[in-house]
Amino acid sequence: MSTQTIAVHLPDGAVREVPAGTTPLDIANSISPRLAAACIAARLIPLAGAAQAADAGEEPSEAAMYAADDAAKPRLVDLTAPLTADTRLELVKENDPEALKVVRHSAAHVMATAVLELFPETKLGHGPATDSGFFYDFYREKPFTPEDLALIEAKMAEVIARDDKFVREHEPREQALAEFEKDGDFMKTHFVTKFTVPGDEVSFYRNGKFVDFCRGPHVPSTGRVKAVKLTTLAGAYWLGDEKNPQLQRIHGTAFFSQKEMDAHFARLEEAAKRDHRLLGKQLDLFSIQELAGPGLIFWHPKGAMIRKIMEDWMREECLRRGYSLVYTPHVAKVNLWQTSGHEGFYAANMFTPMELDDANYRMKPMNCPFHILIYKNSPKSYRDLPVRLAELGNVYRYERSGTMHGLLRVRGFTQDDAHIFCMPSQIEDEVEACIDFAKAVLTTFGFKEFKVELSTWDPNDRAHYAGSDENWKLAETSLKTVLDRKEIAYKVIPGEAAFYGPKIDIKLVDVLGRLWQLSTVQFDFNLPARFEMEYVGEDGERHQPVMVHRALFGSVERFFGVLIEHYAGAFPLWLAPVQVGLVPISERHHEYARKVEKELKAAGFRVEIDDRNEKMNGKIRDFANQKTPYILVFGDKEQEAGAVSVRTRGKGDQGSAPLAEFIAKAKALVEGQSMEL
Ligand SMILES: [Zn+2]
Ligand SMILES: [Zn+2]
Repeated sequence: MSTQTIAVHLPDGAVREVPAGTTPLDIANSISPRLAAACIAARLIPLAGAAQAADAGEEPSEAAMYAADDAAKPRLVDLTAPLTADTRLELVKENDPEALKVVRHSAAHVMATAVLELFPETKLGHGPATDSGFFYDFYREKPFTPEDLALIEAKMAEVIARDDKFVREHEPREQALAEFEKDGDFMKTHFVTKFTVPGDEVSFYRNGKFVDFCRGPHVPSTGRVKAVKLTTLAGAYWLGDEKNPQLQRIHGTAFFSQKEMDAHFARLEEAAKRDHRLLGKQLDLFSIQELAGPGLIFWHPKGAMIRKIMEDWMREECLRRGYSLVYTPHVAKVNLWQTSGHEGFYAANMFTPMELDDANYRMKPMNCPFHILIYKNSPKSYRDLPVRLAELGNVYRYERSGTMHGLLRVRGFTQDDAHIFCMPSQIEDEVEACIDFAKAVLTTFGFKEFKVELSTWDPNDRAHYAGSDENWKLAETSLKTVLDRKEIAYKVIPGEAAFYGPKIDIKLVDVLGRLWQLSTVQFDFNLPARFEMEYVGEDGERHQPVMVHRALFGSVERFFGVLIEHYAGAFPLWLAPVQVGLVPISERHHEYARKVEKELKAAGFRVEIDDRNEKMNGKIRDFANQKTPYILVFGDKEQEAGAVSVRTRGKGDQGSAPLAEFIAKAKALVEGQSMEL
């Protein structure tokens, strides 16, 4: 060994001169043994070039698992990896975004260790960390059973308790291949052949007796896998080919602590309870009918009531904010889609053409060309601008069968779509108004938090963007100016603009902290040019207007799905399809029930009477299961007093109140679109 000295640059700017072969663990220990104990791995960042993030969010691809490291990029290594050249070094602790992946990949090795100890005939495939956990593919003639999973989990606890070190070893490639072939390890042979070249050294990781072909890195020892759970068992063909042997893929997840893992499963459970497909059925809101086809939504009376309220609100707001409402057809001749460019750029997402006697037609995937035709139907002057056309337009897009998901991914949906045609000087005000409108949608429907992204073009990639530099600059500057003026924090995403212009996306955050992409405000230089749109300016000359596409619910179906999950089906009073459930205690109170119903309906409430010959408690339970905001119960006492006994969702029995008092209070809540009861 040489006694060469290398320079290790630490994040605080300190530079350590150490002998080559020093490990990140040595350096951590020299800072503090407590720090060393808290480290999971280390990140080496080449000194030349900027320190960009290493492969964050990368798919668990095989190449990422096995291919040789790119020494020019930041990369994670074991704490015990000898440092051989000058480098920048970051010690990776639990708070590092990549730390959990290292733990999860180590958990996959722990699982494979347990499997081989229990079922030594098993052959190993691929075992990466994923965004939510890890998996390992196994080949075994006899498939694993759910009982086996419990055995494997118990054995994993033993492997973890042994706290064996993860040790990196090397072997000449040809020797490794010979050993794998001798043992019939066909999958490992495949990976080594595919991802290394003759003459390479192949790296292995050993913990106890278990050895796996792997690039790493790993946690220092098996005991560092603190909380782990196996979740599912699924079959998959080797290399995705059904002629190949069927593999068993065992999924699991791992966390830094049992507490974090418990919180994760509690969140999953909560999300499952809120699943809009489940609640849609329970509350009889909507269905998808096999006979009609997937991805096509049937709105049942209660779901349709909520939709009506959403749409009424949206139309009223559009009118208040200076939009004109329009309706347009669901199909149009292919010629229109050629002019708009959809035939060229978007055909793969459209329903195939229908041949009629005069021409071929297509279902519309977007409303934009139709609104343009309305604009173009009469000459426009600068005095007419901006023209704002809004429509709750049904559009149809082709999604592959098997990819649809409830209300979230469908083949037919309704956009709350609008197109604004204006002069360049009006862009900022129009965009600002769109953002105000989007915020009004989110707060009115009960969302407190949102995130904003500004997608810009890539000036070096002209092939993928239409429009001049000048236009792009104008559009991007005005979007930025508006966001800055409104003091809205946003993330710029370069190269993510649509081909026709930059856009602002607004993602809302639901009650479980999940992000949903809904509202979008997009610039367009392309369509006005394709359709040769014009207005006569103050100068008497013809000019091309600028076009803004904007959708705020995005898709009414999708927004409804998000609302169902956000509220877990317990809609605020103003949105609830049935606001008040009436429970007469016995038959002699039915007449009073009708009177109460009449008064409530006259006051504008949506009411349902349960006059079945059932027990009071059963009727109350049924309304409660439907998440009805108020249940009014009455017997002799209430009838005599002209009162009702009020049960409030989430609060229980509130005692008796005069009917007029209840009506006044509930009415105020509806009018204020209140989230409270
Ligand atoms: Zn591995
Ligand atoms: Zn549009």
